[in-house]
Amino acid sequence: MENFQYVNPTKLIFGRNQVNDSLAGEVEAYGTRVLLVYGGGSIKKNGLYELVLEQLNLISNVQIVELSGVEPNPRLSTVNKGIQLIKENQLDFILAVGGGSVIDCAKAISVGAHYDGDVWDFVTGKAAPSSSIPLGTILTMAATGSEMNGNSVITNWDERDKRAFSSIHTYPKFSILDPQNTFSIPADQTVYGIVDLMSHVLEQYFHVSENAPVQERFGESILKTTIETAPKLLESPESYAYREVIMLNATFALNNMLSMGVKTDWATHMIEHAVSAVHDIPHGGGLAILFPHWMELVSETKPERVAQLGIRVFELDPANKNTRELAYETIQKLKEFWKTIGAPTKLSDYGIDNKEIDLMVKRSIVNKTIGNYVPLGENEVRQILERAL
Ligand code: NAP
Ligand code: FE
Repeated sequence: MENFQYVNPTKLIFGRNQVNDSLAGEVEAYGTRVLLVYGGGSIKKNGLYELVLEQLNLISNVQIVELSGVEPNPRLSTVNKGIQLIKENQLDFILAVGGGSVIDCAKAISVGAHYDGDVWDFVTGKAAPSSSIPLGTILTMAATGSEMNGNSVITNWDERDKRAFSSIHTYPKFSILDPQNTFSIPADQTVYGIVDLMSHVLEQYFHVSENAPVQERFGESILKTTIETAPKLLESPESYAYREVIMLNATFALNNMLSMGVKTDWATHMIEHAVSAVHDIPHGGGLAILFPHWMELVSETKPERVAQLGIRVFELDPANKNTRELAYETIQKLKEFWKTIGAPTKLSDYGIDNKEIDLMVKRSIVNKTIGNYVPLGENEVRQILERAL
């Protein structure tokens, strides 16, 4: 393993009716002037909005300012609106109620409100945050792990660029996860969340460090339980038991436990961010299309870890097969699983053709190469995108 330090300051509050039981007390510990951040209205349809207001109003002298309409693939312009609301109203706490997009947007607001320059500097790495407005979250979508990590992914639509940044200052102080708040997620978004969480495991599973057996086995168990549970959940979207398994799996998949002591990959996420930046497609949908092609490409030179995944997660029989054959069988199994739960399989499913492929290649590669398992340059990224069309 590599040397490492691990800190995760987020308090996780998990289970039935935790918004009623915990929200007011948790918020009160940090402030009374609250920026309430949410998305396009799902929380108004499922009743969560009313419950949140009812609970916040238990806090004496509470003042609530709202930022609604955060887009899936949240935009820099919306982050800037939130920063302005905090400054104008001298707010001291941010409550994000939604999926990864709402939480990521709130994270960027939380560090941007303490910065005189352009918050995009943090996203590009030109500057690093040194403090933030405290942030709490109520998660409504199992997918990104944003509820228990420091990552934020922001789209700059003017520049058609989408990038992730990470900071210790963007971890939520607390995150409330009640699986009941995910009952209303439509089937397509449920599938995107499942693909995203599995992709997070895979990005870390394809690490390049020696001797990480427990990290690998932990990742495999998340993948196996997700594969077992996903079809049942899609049959019974209001099953508390299935929703809670997927919700906790998504949190485990990206709260950085799997990457302790290992150097991870993340090339497929970078390519997906480029596709989303240019074509604004759902993140999980993009990953379902791209990941099998990434695996095919790396299996040409390094099929071993792909074969291991197939044997341990898809229970392939290794008898009489070489590593490369096993790797290709694994990729077929993964594709088949994502297809049967209803994920897209090619970029043309979203109407994407090769017209803007040069821009997508350019946006994928921040430095000279991306990824570690097999570092990819422009040619390899182009090959993956072309095969994915
Ligand atoms: P999302 O973009 O937050 O939400 C997708 C859609 O699902 C929205 O239309 C939302 O509607 C709806 N939705 C959410 N919860 C719902 C519920 N309970 N009932 C009904 N509809 C619901 O999805 P996400 O996959 O969680 O986040 C995707 C973003 O996170 C992307 O930008 C991706 O790049 C990023 N990401 C971040 C990380 C990280 O570590 N921070 C990791 C991977 C990806 P409303 O808007 O109406 O609520
Ligand atoms: Fe992701």
